[in-house]
Amino acid sequence: MNSENRVNQLRADLEAATPGPWEPGDVWLTAGLIYSDAWERVGDGNATRCAYCHLGEPAWSGRADINGTVMPAHRHRNPEPYDPGHAVSSSGGGLVAYEGGGVVRSEDVRFVVSAREHVPALLSEVDGLRLKGAALRERITALHAPVQHMGQVWCGECSVRRSTGPRSEEWVAFIPHPCPTIDALGTAETQTTETKEQI
Ligand SMILES: [Zn+2]
Ligand SMILES: [Zn+2]
Repeated sequence: MNSENRVNQLRADLEAATPGPWEPGDVWLTAGLIYSDAWERVGDGNATRCAYCHLGEPAWSGRADINGTVMPAHRHRNPEPYDPGHAVSSSGGGLVAYEGGGVVRSEDVRFVVSAREHVPALLSEVDGLRLKGAALRERITALHAPVQHMGQVWCGECSVRRSTGPRSEEWVAFIPHPCPTIDALGTAETQTTETKEQI
């Protein structure tokens, strides 16, 4: 996928997702039932409590896949504040210590996955555009360089001169430096900054 397609895909996934701003949601803890009401370890079928039951009554109980085994389980709301370090796992991260239940819609999941995949390409694109912009600015600034003439500063590119001999020239139109082109570069810079601030 080229970078333009990646950006388009990311935009489409962003537009399909739930409008922001998003906030971190509650953290949910899921565990299998392995204890009795007296907090003794008991076998399958007799257990009524999970390791998180000290937090209070479960918000959900049913059967869940716990470390590869489908068994009776509880889900409790974690009373601790949200901690990104506890709620996020990666494919290489091994055990998921906490289970985050915040993202529910499949479009939102798709956007999160899409962002993970396409944001690196987007950042490369931004880096490239910045370099291009800086190079362009440098070339234009060098082209519209100031020239001293009759004690004043003029734009060497915009001012019009006509040669009157092999080594002599006559100034026909005087355009002060900074010229409108250099001014426009400054305006573009300000507008870009304003646009950034709006985002
Ligand atoms: Zn429980
Ligand atoms: Zn100029």
